[in-house]
Amino acid sequence: MISNIEDYYWDIFQDQRKLSKYTVGSDGRFPCQRCGKTSYKQKTHLIRHLHFECGMEPRFVCSCGKKFKQRSNFNTHLKITGHIY
Ligand SMILES: [Zn+2]
Ligand SMILES: [Zn+2]
Repeated sequence: MISNIEDYYWDIFQDQRKLSKYTVGSDGRFPCQRCGKTSYKQKTHLIRHLHFECGMEPRFVCSCGKKFKQRSNFNTHLKITGHIY
């Protein structure tokens, strides 16, 4: 269990800084250099993305075959379409 999420992110940041993954883009945001699909205003958001989203298989699969990485998006899909999990 991680008791302090900020400490957790900071540890990751210290590790990752050696790899200089977190460079600010020309627009002042932090682009994900792994997938290149997204960028974040805050470094911690990029770190969260790298560790919980980036390169991960979508965990929520609908009966229609659509896949979602985030439960909230999946729930919205179910609500809108009336599909059954
Ligand atoms: Zn990414
Ligand atoms: Zn569906």
